[in-house]
Amino acid sequence: MTPMRKSALTLAAAFAVFSPIQGFAEDVLAPRIVIETETVPHAGDAADDPAVWVHPDDPAQSLVLGTDKKGGVIAFDLAGKRIQEVSPDLRPNNIDVIYGFPMHGGAVDLAVAGTRAEGKQGVAIWRIDAANRRLAEIAPGPAFTVFGGTEPYGTCVYRSPKDQAFYIFVNNKKGKVEQYRLDSPSEGAVRATLVRAFGVGSQTEGCVADDDLGAFYLSEESVGIWKFSAEPDGGTEGVLIAKVGEHGLTADVEGLTIYRGARDAGYLIASSQGSGDFKVFERAGANRFVATIDLGLADVDGLDVVAVPTSARFSRGLFVCQGGKTTGANQNFKYVAWDEIAGDRLLIDASRSVRGR
Ligand code: CA
Ligand code: CA
Ligand code: CA
Ligand code: CA
Repeated sequence: MTPMRKSALTLAAAFAVFSPIQGFAEDVLAPRIVIETETVPHAGDAADDPAVWVHPDDPAQSLVLGTDKKGGVIAFDLAGKRIQEVSPDLRPNNIDVIYGFPMHGGAVDLAVAGTRAEGKQGVAIWRIDAANRRLAEIAPGPAFTVFGGTEPYGTCVYRSPKDQAFYIFVNNKKGKVEQYRLDSPSEGAVRATLVRAFGVGSQTEGCVADDDLGAFYLSEESVGIWKFSAEPDGGTEGVLIAKVGEHGLTADVEGLTIYRGARDAGYLIASSQGSGDFKVFERAGANRFVATIDLGLADVDGLDVVAVPTSARFSRGLFVCQGGKTTGANQNFKYVAWDEIAGDRLLIDASRSVRGR
C-alpha cells in the first residue's frame, strides 16, 4: 500500500468515526452485564444457545434455558442460579420455546432443541411445567429425526400468522434447511411432518423466525444473514439482507433473535462472533442496520431477547447471550437489561405478549 493510499483511507476512517450520518462510534451501545449465570457442567466450549421462557402467571419465575452442547439443557432462574439439568446425554445445540402448543388434551409450553449425541441425533422436545418450573422430555431421546437421521446444527421455531400452525426449522453444517410442521395426534405426543427443504451454499447455524411478518432468517456463518419466507409454500429463494464485512459484521455470523414490538416494530439481532459483538437491524422492511451492542465479550454465540417484563431487574425486557472464552472456569450465560441496551436509542416496547398474537 502506498503512503498516499494509506492516508486517504485513514481520513476516510476518521470521517466515518466522527460522522453522525455514517454512524459508527455513536451507534455502539455498551450496557453492563447485570447477571452472569452459574456455569454449565462441561468444560471448554460447551455453552451455546439460550432461550427465555416467560412464566404465564408470575413473570419473575421465568426461566433461561441454556444448552450445554457436551451435556444437556440447563434451566437457570433470573438470578442466574442453576435450578435443573435435564437430558444430560443428548448434547443439545440450539434451543427455542413454543408457547401454547395445542397438545391433544390441552395447550402446553414446549422447549425444542436439535440434539447431536451419537445415536440420538434429531430434535428433542420438552414440556415446560409452569407449576414447578421443570422440563420433562415428551419422549425419551429425540422426538424425531431430521436430514435422514443425520446431525442437525441450528434450530428455531415458527408460528404462522396465517393459520397459527407451529413449525420447527433445522439446518446443518452443509447449509441445508428442513422445515417441519408440528401437531399432536394423540395425548402427550408431538408429530413432525416435513413440509419444505431448501438451503444455502455453506455452513449455517443461527436462525430465527418472525411470527408476525412471516420471515425466516438464517446465518450462513462466513457469508451473512439470509431472509426467506417462513411459510411452507414460501419457495426456496432467499435475500442476503446483511453481508459479512458490512457494519462490522464479522464471521462467524452466529445466533439470531428478534425483539418483538408492536406491529412490525422491533429488531433482528445477530451475533457477530469475529468482532465479539451484536449487530442490530430493523425487523421491518429491508432490515436496515441500526446499531452495535458491545458487552466487551469475546467469542459471542447464541442469544435471545424478550421485550416483556420478567423480574424487577428486567422489568423492561431481558437480553441473554453466551459469550466469552473462559479459562479455568466453565462457560456461562449473561443477562442484560433491555432498557440499558436501548437507552434513548432503541425502542422499548413491551406491548406484545409472548403468548398469542
Ligand atoms: Ca452456536
Ligand atoms: Ca459457545
Ligand atoms: Ca435460542
Ligand atoms: Ca456455529
